[in-house]
Amino acid sequence: MKNIAVIGSGTMGNGIAHTFAQFGYNVALIDISQPALDKAIATISKNLDRIVAKGSITEADKAATLKNISTFTVMADGVKSADLVVEAATENVEIKLNIFRELDKICPPNTILASNTSSISITKIGAVTKRPDKVIGMHFMNPVPVMKLVEVIRGYSTSDAVCSLIMETSKKLNKVPTEVNDYPGFVANKILMPMINEAIITLHEGTAGVEEIDTVMKLGMAHPMGPLQLADFIGLDVCLSILKVLQDGYGNPKYAPCPLLVNMVTAGHLGIKSGQGFYSWGHGTKDLIVADGFKKKEMV
Ligand code: NAD
Repeated sequence: MKNIAVIGSGTMGNGIAHTFAQFGYNVALIDISQPALDKAIATISKNLDRIVAKGSITEADKAATLKNISTFTVMADGVKSADLVVEAATENVEIKLNIFRELDKICPPNTILASNTSSISITKIGAVTKRPDKVIGMHFMNPVPVMKLVEVIRGYSTSDAVCSLIMETSKKLNKVPTEVNDYPGFVANKILMPMINEAIITLHEGTAGVEEIDTVMKLGMAHPMGPLQLADFIGLDVCLSILKVLQDGYGNPKYAPCPLLVNMVTAGHLGIKSGQGFYSWGHGTKDLIVADGFKKKEMV
């Protein structure tokens, strides 16, 4: 494993590219949007600056990491010599199935095809390829350079050899891989998303305001951040997509997304990436200013 292609350069794609590049892999970062690629490189550079400032890496390490990353807008150009592709495109089943159909045609036969999907079935993704034994879930957590966990998801047809290789590769990135089976939401989001949805329902019902809900969960449950702040970090569109997968996959109304979440996504309030979610996010900062629509008086 030396050459890695990462498809999608948004919140997760840039972190995955950063992490592989920092550990010496050659990374082809691919997106349909050139502005998204430009933004990703700027984000990676800024995040590396933070690590340099902490003294964990040197300026030379930063330069070497950036040198390991090339960007592409045409998928075939980026994946032609990939040993491993990690797909981190938009959480939409049709987009992902089209990407994997295409990857199966254009990648060398031995290339392993991984998805960073939060919830879409790896078995379903594998089934549109002629190499379902080499299709696997490699679910990194946000922010990727910081978070230790990789949830490794075995599709119904994923081979033992591919699973072992992905577990080993994750360890080489200084991560802790954990193997789980392929059911909707896997483990992380089957448990996390109902909690985030419940926090949004609590806000929607006027039981408490944004800061109050997050404070209760932070200080009362020792969570590092509240569920509404976390939803802004993840992206409200991503949260909505995952809840729909859980709702469809289990056929259980307990996973129905809160109508407030649906409205916010429809209005383009997606959290940090759009600048506005449950909080307002200043330019490149993590300022926690409760968004205007959620002033406590308006909730009661
Ligand atoms: P995002 O919206 O920030 O970025 C998605 C990127 O994919 C965009 O830049 C878009 O231009 C690109 N894209 C869309 N179609 C493409 C295509 N056909 N080819 C190449 N690029 C394409 O999304 P994200 O939050 O980075 O999520 C990406 C994946 O990671 C999703 O599957 C999501 O479920 C998963 N994930 C997200 C988080 C999180 O906290 N956001 C955590 C773990 C996993």
